[in-house]
Amino acid sequence: MEIDNPYLLLTPGPLSTTPSVKRTMLRDWCTWDDDYNVIVQRIRHKLESLASTEGDYTSVLMQGSGTFSVESVIGSVIPPEGALAVIANGAYGKRISEIAKYLNISHYELSLSETEKPSVKKFEALLNRYKNITHVAMVHCETTTGMLNDIRPLAEVAKRHGKKVIVDAMSSFGGIPMDMREWQIDFLISSANKCIQGVPGFGFVIADRRELENCEGYARSLSLDLYSQWQTMEEKAGKWRFTSPTHVVRAFAKALEELEEEGGVQQRHKRYRKNQKSLVAGMSTLGFEPLLPKTTHSPVITAFRYPEAQEFTFEEFYQRLKEKGFVIYPGKVSDAPTFRIGTIGDVFPEDIDRLLEAVRQSMYWENEAKASLKN
Ligand SMILES: *Cc1c(COP(=O)(O)O)cnc(C)c1O
Repeated sequence: MEIDNPYLLLTPGPLSTTPSVKRTMLRDWCTWDDDYNVIVQRIRHKLESLASTEGDYTSVLMQGSGTFSVESVIGSVIPPEGALAVIANGAYGKRISEIAKYLNISHYELSLSETEKPSVKKFEALLNRYKNITHVAMVHCETTTGMLNDIRPLAEVAKRHGKKVIVDAMSSFGGIPMDMREWQIDFLISSANKCIQGVPGFGFVIADRRELENCEGYARSLSLDLYSQWQTMEEKAGKWRFTSPTHVVRAFAKALEELEEEGGVQQRHKRYRKNQKSLVAGMSTLGFEPLLPKTTHSPVITAFRYPEAQEFTFEEFYQRLKEKGFVIYPGKVSDAPTFRIGTIGDVFPEDIDRLLEAVRQSMYWENEAKASLKN
């Protein structure tokens, strides 16, 4: 069967997946049959081994988009008398605070600008000030800007103060090497449709087993009860509590195999980095300036400032690129007009070269100026 894809997604999830991943979704799977549960168990074990080479880690898959999994962790691992510190330098950090607010969990936000790197000093001051903090949450790759937060020293400070560490590694897990034990992370959250290159439909949480074991009865929601979901998956060997996204799970299992075939996270990271570096170099040549300094770039997504030209509108630029087979992403930064281009998914340096040519042809504001000069 031919799969007709009118454009390449250069967005940070859903992203472009391989034809083989898409093809696995063409058959129906029973949710309680052993064949299916075996696949779920295999996925869980693979995720655990990707998260750390040592230590006792376990995993839970959770229905919904990535935010559902974040909400499931925030709502299920903090005891009633606990309090959360959130490091926020973008929309996803802020979303964690918002979740805590909805769930009536005491929380303190280290609120930073979207272009600011989280400071260990400021974070430690927050921990010293509010002694009731029990948990901290931070975002690894802040997809808002593409900033790669250096979370290791932050987690280290949190641990020194005896806090539990929660990391939203949604847009980095599987695409950037990390180790939960070395980085001292207790709960790590990601989802199916980011760097593992599956399709959207569920998220997952990898947890230090002893920490998760302590969370019974804390959940503030029935369907997002992380502990119960985990108990069911453990006791019934891969069974989900409620209807699971079977096709998506099957596609994810295939995506995990393809990650291995590519050479694992290291190799995937190399490809993403190559994509991103040639994107930035090419865009700079065309006159587009990245929002962030290069030292803070992630290989996942890059925000570019709008060109100065009066005639530029994102909508027009977007449409022109879409006609040429590329879908880019609007900006999410509140204080500077930007657009974003993702470099993850089934996307290769050759695709970036083709994109750059399409961008050059789509610079109507310059092309028109040049044309009018000639006349
Ligand atoms: C994608 C993403 C999420 C989850 O977003 P959903 O739209 O709920 O899937 C959370 N955090 C980060 C950093 C992300 O990139």
